[in-house]
Amino acid sequence: MNNEYEKLKELLNKYSYEYYVLDEPSVTDYEYDMLLRKLIKMEEENPAIIAPDSPSQKVGGKILKGFESVVHAVKMQSLQDAFSEDEIRDFDKRVKAVCPNAEYTVEPKIDGLSVSLEYENSLLVRGSTRGDGQVGEDVTNNLKTVKSIPLKTNIPVERLEVRGEVFMPKKSFEKLNFEREENGETTFANPRNAAAGSLRQLDSSAAAKRNLDIFVFNVQSVTGIEFKTHLESLEFLKKAGFKVIDDTEAFSSIDGALEKIAEIGNTRKGYYYDTDGAVIKVNSLSDREILGETAKVPRWAIAFKYPAEQKETTIKNIFINV
Ligand code: NAD
Repeated sequence: MNNEYEKLKELLNKYSYEYYVLDEPSVTDYEYDMLLRKLIKMEEENPAIIAPDSPSQKVGGKILKGFESVVHAVKMQSLQDAFSEDEIRDFDKRVKAVCPNAEYTVEPKIDGLSVSLEYENSLLVRGSTRGDGQVGEDVTNNLKTVKSIPLKTNIPVERLEVRGEVFMPKKSFEKLNFEREENGETTFANPRNAAAGSLRQLDSSAAAKRNLDIFVFNVQSVTGIEFKTHLESLEFLKKAGFKVIDDTEAFSSIDGALEKIAEIGNTRKGYYYDTDGAVIKVNSLSDREILGETAKVPRWAIAFKYPAEQKETTIKNIFINV
């Protein structure tokens, strides 16, 4: 058992290194997630074996040499994942036990990398990667080359920190890989890795050529403005000049949220960016406070991951396929 655990842990750490540090994954995310689940199950059955370097104990990637470190004022957490309708219904039960009137929003989960943008007196002063959630890399110069990131907010703010997902549009990814192949360079495995590799270019003129884009999905902190709900904060972000996912709505029941997840699943292949799931979030910010968080993930959100190779999906069978 311990030997099997050790081997699995080492394998997952190797995959993590390839994914987060080299931006060259050798297995699909789905394979990785399933192996991680197996490891976590072993740890739950026998907590004494949990190793300090187990992938279950950390969030995200390592810091590369060449960039300054940034300590995040607001921790950049990951999300709990779900692969079936049952797991989402369990999440709903846990939420409703504490907040019986909770409403949910559903957004596509953008398959990119998470960044924080900090504004002072309405000006962008710093941008950083998530890193391990507590400490990331200062990639301000590269983020300034992303055209959809405002250098100045349209609404005056003294201090503002937002979180978003930087991604490479599918078309730009295809073009980049085509050019790299022509030049005899190694190609990127997917748009997420291409975006991560581009943000970590030490020369920002190289990053500028990569045509990165962003969706901003959260206000981490802001002075002088209060929101009651996630939807209100998204509206603020939009007015302030950020690119946000349009038409996010609130659902009073988990059934509405499940339908929305299925709808995104049916249409996402046509989006100009990659999605690997849909994120359900509790809409009320006071409910979120009550629900709180674990060391790694908030208790008020969950990410449903679509099956890796899903060819034809309909609203009816999307959850049966999982
Ligand atoms: P995650 O990707 O499962 O989910 C959390 C992330 O979702 C957040 O950090 C945020 O950046 C992002 N996100 C996108 N859209 C969002 C939205 N609308 N609202 C909120 N958040 C949104 O978790 P993770 O910890 O970032 O990374 C784990 C992922 O990395 C897994 O999918 C795993 O498969 C993959 N991975 C793959 C390999 C491999 O070898 N293939 C290795 C390690 C990790």
